[in-house]
Amino acid sequence: MVRSRWGCFVLIVVFVAAALITLLAWLTVHHPANTKPVLSVRQNVQLAWHYVAPHSVREVTDPTNVLVLVNPWNRLPASYVPPDLVRLSIPYLNPGDPENHLMRKVAVPALMALIEAAKHDGIYLAGVSAFRSYATQDWLYHYYIRTQGLKVAQQYSAKPGTSEHQTGLAIDLSGSTGQYAAEPQFAQTPEGKWLAKHVTQFGFIIRYPQGMKKITGYAYEAWHIRYVGKKVATFMMRHHFTLEQYVQYEQFLKVHHITP
Ligand SMILES: [Zn+2]
Repeated sequence: MVRSRWGCFVLIVVFVAAALITLLAWLTVHHPANTKPVLSVRQNVQLAWHYVAPHSVREVTDPTNVLVLVNPWNRLPASYVPPDLVRLSIPYLNPGDPENHLMRKVAVPALMALIEAAKHDGIYLAGVSAFRSYATQDWLYHYYIRTQGLKVAQQYSAKPGTSEHQTGLAIDLSGSTGQYAAEPQFAQTPEGKWLAKHVTQFGFIIRYPQGMKKITGYAYEAWHIRYVGKKVATFMMRHHFTLEQYVQYEQFLKVHHITP
């Protein structure tokens, strides 16, 4: 009788100890401090710097997203035309070409504000090319190949479907004289310098910065600006991010339910 009571006591102690250990283990795993992602936001910002371009091409599934990523590895559907294109009333180098005077509604007020602010600083900007349809890009790409060869075409003209101009969120700008329009020397013109300094204030980015070809897929284009909104543009400038790096960073936040 004594032995069995002793045995019962030991059993209860073992059971309680096991229950406590299980509870402690559960609390350790689910404690808020331990459910945080492996990497902090700051660490991921650093990680995004080590972005490696993908090896395959995929079709974009969210073409109307303001932060849509279009590059040689992320192709827009051939049939995609932005649903809210608006005709721009800004000076144009080639006023006779109506298609490339279009831009998505969301970016237009920001672009108008940018052009006006530049004018205020004595910088007179003109549009070169904004929206471009898949068919136009197809023609342009093959025109570049015919006239300047495949190598130049690949460097300065996107393959159809991989051009940001099809998003309606990008525009090429030049000075109103058209000097060095869409040429590398544009970066050294007063207009090019003004753009580099001020675009982010209006929610735009220089989409293809210098030395980022491995990430963006394109050589430096001081004239090609892309609308992403002020908040994102400011963040990207602060971290010297390309859009590819920013999108990777944003995905990380989403996966780990982090509010920046
Ligand atoms: Zn462009």
